[in-house]
Amino acid sequence: MRTIGLIGGMSWESSAEYYRLLNGLTRERLGGHHCAPSVMVTVDFAEIEAMQRADDWQGAARRLAEAARSLELAGAELVVLCTNTMHRVAEDIAAEIRVPFVDIIEATARRVRAAGMRRVGLLGTRFTMEGAFYRARMAEYGIEVLVPDLPERALVHDVIYGELTTGLINDSSRQEFVRIVGALAERGAEGVILGCTEIPLLIGPSDTAVPLFDTTRLHVEYAVELAGAAPGAVPRPSPSTSRR
Ligand code: GLU
Repeated sequence: MRTIGLIGGMSWESSAEYYRLLNGLTRERLGGHHCAPSVMVTVDFAEIEAMQRADDWQGAARRLAEAARSLELAGAELVVLCTNTMHRVAEDIAAEIRVPFVDIIEATARRVRAAGMRRVGLLGTRFTMEGAFYRARMAEYGIEVLVPDLPERALVHDVIYGELTTGLINDSSRQEFVRIVGALAERGAEGVILGCTEIPLLIGPSDTAVPLFDTTRLHVEYAVELAGAAPGAVPRPSPSTSRR
């Protein structure tokens, strides 16, 4: 199995999930005492978050490319960027390394397609919901993306930065997210992408009948598949099998 490099810290609450899922899934696939050979670089989210607010995406791209290069030097044979939002600069990062970059949007789009869906809702930071990058990548797979209305987008964004990335999980926010997922389904979304790696800490399949695409889990599954744990043994579960 190839060594997986993780760029974590955005936030570490979700990076911890990546680490848990990566090793849990590898043990499920290979059994016994197997875990995933990996290295992680943790960036300080305060630095990245300040660059996001300042619209300094090139500065953030340079910082993350530096992290990716250090993973390569540490022996990583694949690079996983543990956040949806920063995939806005995925191309700049991928251009700086020789090893494959495992794209979270591609991992998700493949599963949406495999589930036979063409129109899905998207929850994430306002950068993810309002920027062109996520929508454009999904369109490459023939998938149309619906986002919540402005007040709901603001709520989702504020819960991510004010609660989830600081380790707070609130029932009232869970109820709001469930309501927003339902509203997207009523507008024609066949499923909803949890397009922020902390959202699966808040809501999961037990909270709604709407199929959810947990990007944290899908990203890890794709990385494990590419790293070669039990090649060919990767199941193609329906999106509702994603877990909290
Ligand atoms: N983890 C989040 C995401 O998947 C948000 C934090 C960030 O801005 O990177 O988008």
